[in-house]
Amino acid sequence: MRIFLFILLLFAGNNLFAGDSKIKVVFRYDDFTLQNVPFQDSLLSIFDSNSIPVSIAVIPYDKTADPKPYNSMTQQQMAYLQELIHKNIVEVAQHGFNHTKNSKSEFKDVKEEKQYALIEKGKKYLDSVLNVNITTFIPPWNQYDSTTLEVLAKLGFKGISADLYGVATSNTIHYMPCTDKYVHDIKDLVSKNRDRDVTLIVMLHDFNFKGDGNEYYIKRKSTLIELKEVLKWLKENNIQCCTFSQLISSGEDFGKERYLVNSKLFDGVISHRFFNFYVPVDYEKYKSWDKAFWAGYYFVALLLLWVVAKLMKIKPQRRIALIFWISCTVVLAAFFIYGRFTHKLLFVINGFGVLWLFASLLLMKSKKMEAAH
Ligand SMILES: [Zn+2]
Repeated sequence: MRIFLFILLLFAGNNLFAGDSKIKVVFRYDDFTLQNVPFQDSLLSIFDSNSIPVSIAVIPYDKTADPKPYNSMTQQQMAYLQELIHKNIVEVAQHGFNHTKNSKSEFKDVKEEKQYALIEKGKKYLDSVLNVNITTFIPPWNQYDSTTLEVLAKLGFKGISADLYGVATSNTIHYMPCTDKYVHDIKDLVSKNRDRDVTLIVMLHDFNFKGDGNEYYIKRKSTLIELKEVLKWLKENNIQCCTFSQLISSGEDFGKERYLVNSKLFDGVISHRFFNFYVPVDYEKYKSWDKAFWAGYYFVALLLLWVVAKLMKIKPQRRIALIFWISCTVVLAAFFIYGRFTHKLLFVINGFGVLWLFASLLLMKSKKMEAAH
């Protein structure tokens, strides 16, 4: 009997992350509403028929709900959604409040009291209508700030899924950013990296599929048939697919340090090896390659500046002082604006730094020439 139970437990444990791949795949479907949208039903049934979970980012009070109410699903649709939640095929995540901009976005740079009120009201509504306890927050347009993180922690959220460019100030929140948004490249990405300890988080919207002329949003559209194909392939190949709450309970590190390491991924050429993946913090080899890349990059940049200064016939001592002064000012200004080294900041340093130095040199040269006259 005990052996039987043991085997059963082993089987149940295996079921959560079925298969032998190291890579994990999470599907995140944004802008889900509690409306009568047949497309949503079709999408969910594809995940259901392949027993692959999907985390849906539900807008609590959808502004496009016309006529109101916010929940206009048919009884049948609601029953199906409930069934899938029950079967752990669907995980409900909260997608903001009503998906409108209160400043730059729905939450970024919005006062704490307002953020708190919106998130709390939205969570209460979804929790009660869907009979769940939401623990993952997905901010609209992937935009949030450190206040959002504080509010989430206070309201009992465990994780946030935005993109790779957000802030990471909370130590209690798990960061699970989207790393890809195309259906057509999943098979290729997964098969090349199935034995690597990485996570692929695919963000999908209805405009991934619809021929609605919204070409601005996405470079390449897919069909539901393609998605079905991909899910079937993942299933057949025993690839670990999970929801955000399953990611958190897997014990894997989704802390702030890993997020910050990953937020620099798009900066380095070397890191393109890891494009589309959320790599672990302890990627020592990758980190040293990245450092070497940037050290080399700045060495070459400074060398070029030196040559320019030399060609402009500026005295060596003045050259050093000038380059040093420009570098320090740009770094300080960038820190002042961005707060830390992000991909944007590095481009600011590289781009503006060079331009600025060039302008200064020209200015000094013209002064010199004036003085000579
Ligand atoms: Zn959205």
